[in-house]
Formats: sequence, structure tokens, C-alpha cells
Amino acid sequence: MLSVRVPGRGLPVSRRFFSRVAAVMLALAVINGRPAAADEPPAFSGDRAMAHLEAIANLGPRPSGSTGMDRQRALLVKHFREAGGTVRSQAFQIRDRRTGQPVRMENLIVEWHPDRVDRVLLGAHYDTRPFPDRDPVDPQGVFVGANDGASGVAVLMELAGAMPALAGPVGVDFVLFDAEEYVVAPRDPYCLGSNFFAREHAAARQKGDLPYLYRCGVILDMVGDKNLEIWQEQHSASWPDTRPVVDSIWNVAARLNVREFVPRPKYTVEDDHVPLRMIARIPTCDVIDFDYPQWHTTQDTAEHCSAESLGTVGRVMLEWLREQK
Ligand SMILES: [Zn+2]
Repeated sequence: MLSVRVPGRGLPVSRRFFSRVAAVMLALAVINGRPAAADEPPAFSGDRAMAHLEAIANLGPRPSGSTGMDRQRALLVKHFREAGGTVRSQAFQIRDRRTGQPVRMENLIVEWHPDRVDRVLLGAHYDTRPFPDRDPVDPQGVFVGANDGASGVAVLMELAGAMPALAGPVGVDFVLFDAEEYVVAPRDPYCLGSNFFAREHAAARQKGDLPYLYRCGVILDMVGDKNLEIWQEQHSASWPDTRPVVDSIWNVAARLNVREFVPRPKYTVEDDHVPLRMIARIPTCDVIDFDYPQWHTTQDTAEHCSAESLGTVGRVMLEWLREQK
């Protein structure tokens, strides 16, 4: 507790009491640098994001077409609607390459400020790999994808709280992609959900049916690693239209003194940003921490992720969104 010098010594007790209260309030206001304002913009909480990550991982495996995926989708639709987003679904079907059976796929699109025609896309895949095929012990075991799957989704869930109050010219769409890795055999294709989204987007634009334009996009994937180290992804850093997106994000990180964003390229990753950029022509970069020893193993669990890492990524992304002019 702070000691506060009370002015008005010698005043009657009641007056003295109120003077003391006023002085304490004034002191607190000065300590905080400003009065606690009800209209303060919402902050990103790593702890809340971590709780989201755990809730999703606790649903168990969530590969495309599974009951775990259905439960996750219901949870997300409820969460984003309650946060004030407009949730649209984009369903499609593929045929499983082994069984020949149809598998139902569904991307989710969460719109914030749908009236703003100048938009930014923030994406994450929300399916998990059917098997932990890089696990040295149990490659057919249980894969819950706490980092590879849940972490990007958890950051979007927490960012949702700040979206209704987002000022500025840009609207934001969160896109949750299905089937980024519906991969059972080595030659199975990746990124089915983002491919479908990108083709629909390109077709709508060709027909003149798009009432808005994405100025750019960002994919968040594997952003919960306890030992967070986000190098720039090679494609994103070298394509001329995505390079400025990369620079703007890493510049925000540098300004916030976030050392975990390393301003140099390292890995080349084939992620959902590739179809978005190549097919939909949305300049999209990938924010991914690819140095994760538990990648595609049974050990990709919540204990290898942290609230601090999610908070770091979330704060950078929120500040970056707020700086869009
Ligand atoms: Zn993966």
C-alpha cells in the first residue's frame, strides 16, 4: 500500500475522510499515468488464449470429417457469434483417396465490420493431422495438435474480443481452413480448404461478384511453442507482393521489443498462404514457428505450448491490425 500525503489537515473528520479518498484516487491516477478508462481498447490476453488452446486440444483429435472436428466447429461458431462476429460456413466435399467415400469439409469465415470493403484476412487451419506420422514410437497413435492446429485458432479466438472496437479503415475476416493436412499417405494433397476458398474467391472476382477486396492476408500456424522463435517464411519473404506484409509485421514486433520474431528468413513452408496468394491473388504471408521438436508427434500437446508465446503473437497481430491505415 502506498502512503499518501493528505492535504486539508485540520478539516472536520468527514471532510478529512473525503479529502483522503480524493487524494488516494488522484495518486492512483498519477501512478497509472492516466485514469482507468472504460473505453480503453481491449488487450490481448495470453492466458485466455491458452485456455482456448487447452479447450480445443481437450476435444481430442480433430481431423477433417471427424466427430472431434464437428465438436470443435460447434464450439467455434458459438464463440465467434457471442463475440459479435458474423459466421459463414463454406462447405465442400472431397472423396477419400483410400475408401472412395465422400468426406464433408467446411471452412468457417468470421466477418468483422462487414461494411468495410477494404479488408484483411487472418487465417488458421483448424483440422489436425489424422496420425502423428513422425512419432518415433507410435506413428499411428493419438494426435491432438495443440500447436499444429489449436494454437492459430486460439489466437483468433482471443483476438475476437478486440475486433468489434477495431477502429480504422479495414474490416477483418478470420478464415478457419479445413483440411490443411488431411494427409494419411505420403502423396496426399495438402491445403484442401484454402485451395477451395481461393478458387471460389478467384471465380467470384472474375464474375465481378466481390463487393470487397483483401489488401493482404496472414496465416497463423504453430504459434504456441513454449520456445517461441518465429523466423520469416521463405516464400513470404521473397514474393514481391508479400514482402511488404512480412516487413510490416516484423517491424511492429521490433517496435514492441518482441525478439521472438526474428527478422530473417529460414524455412520454406507449403502452407495455406500459397493457394491464397497463387490462386486467389491475395498477398498472404505465413507466420509460423517451424522449430518445434514435437511436430507431427504424439507429443504435440498443450504442455509444450505456453500462454506467453500465444500472448506474444497475439499482441503483435493486434497492434499490426490497429496500425492498418
Ligand atoms: Zn502439420
